[in-house]
Amino acid sequence: MKAKVLVRYGEIALKGKNRGEFEQQLQSNLKNAVSDLGGRVARLHGRLLVTGPEQNFDKIIDRTSKTFGVVSVSKVRETELDLEKIKVLAAEIASEIPPDKLAFRVDTRRSNKDFPYDSQEINHSLGAYLQSIRPELVVNLKNPDFTIYIEVGFDKAYIYQDRVAGPGGLPLGVTGRCLLLLSGGIDSPVAGWLAMKRGMALEALHFHSFPFTSRRAQEKAVDLCRKLAVYGNVIRLHMISVTSIQKEINENCPKDYSIILLRRMMYRLAEKLSLQHNLQALVTGESLGQVASQTLESIEVVSKATSMMVLRPLVGMDKTEIINKGIEIDTYETSILPYEDCCTVFLPKNPVTRPRLENVLQHEANLDIDALVDEALATLETKTVAAR
Ligand code: ATP
Ligand code: MG
Repeated sequence: MKAKVLVRYGEIALKGKNRGEFEQQLQSNLKNAVSDLGGRVARLHGRLLVTGPEQNFDKIIDRTSKTFGVVSVSKVRETELDLEKIKVLAAEIASEIPPDKLAFRVDTRRSNKDFPYDSQEINHSLGAYLQSIRPELVVNLKNPDFTIYIEVGFDKAYIYQDRVAGPGGLPLGVTGRCLLLLSGGIDSPVAGWLAMKRGMALEALHFHSFPFTSRRAQEKAVDLCRKLAVYGNVIRLHMISVTSIQKEINENCPKDYSIILLRRMMYRLAEKLSLQHNLQALVTGESLGQVASQTLESIEVVSKATSMMVLRPLVGMDKTEIINKGIEIDTYETSILPYEDCCTVFLPKNPVTRPRLENVLQHEANLDIDALVDEALATLETKTVAAR
């Protein structure tokens, strides 16, 4: 027996001439998501239909409802374009409804205008039929216990009862490719997820200070990538040691500027890596005003270390909103595990909150920037992290 899942997508249908490209990308992303489950994806009119073995139905629903671009999914029963056959299937569903849930309605969407009955006629005809076979049912349009949805397509009709919400957004890959600066914290995975939601394929970059930070801190970055990969199939994770950089800064520059200087080095490394891997923008979990490094002045001075575009998807969110999103996408539990981030190793007591670029440049004159960048890049390790 085959399970059939009807996939709805919203925004992409509105995108005019890009529509074809978007639908193709969504179809290919869905295919990637379900192919190991024996799932196949077909295009219907303004919908996609995923078909797969019944025993994998729960997984197929789970994965399709975590694919960006998907607005909602439903397990459907399929029948020929024949009102009598539609009635039989609707009756099957109605017969499974428990006796304390008797208020119902029928809701039809007809894409196929050649079908001889319009939506209202189908609603009425089915409503009357269901009451004729189960007289205790009552029609309630405003507040039903259950709804029987009908979609009249071009080849088939689909009948279903429930919708599972998808994440919405745009299919991964349609807007470009970017590099997520992924710490072990709460914010950056959420920022990455939001960038993915807007159609960006991600690679991730994590900076560590091994042996000052434990291996477990790096594994945390891997675990976070695995969580993000649930929404993006696989994610390439790059890891670079900034231990020498932190030591050099610590020995040669004022403590209050050390975080700013380290951040600028991170941006330089991220830029080099992006060039090598053809990535168009950096994504960070920065938001305004949480800590000294996130005042407007700090963000500005740090971002002047790169000419790349830096996207900061969290800038409009409060901390509680970020945390709630982290819980929803299942990164939060991993983020709060107590393994040290590299920045805490040489953390100054009083970091500067309003750094000045001329001071930064003066301090950087004490460092051999190019040599430090090369030395750090030589520590690069890259892993491909899959969701499963
Ligand atoms: P997060 O919760 O993501 O760690 P945060 O609130 O701790 O962020 P900061 O420490 O100021 O804020 O870091 C701001 C951003 O800089 C992070 O969201 C991340 O994008 C980047 N970043 C910081 N530390 C690292 C790191 N060790 N590796 C990669 N990126 C980092
Ligand atoms: Mg952090």
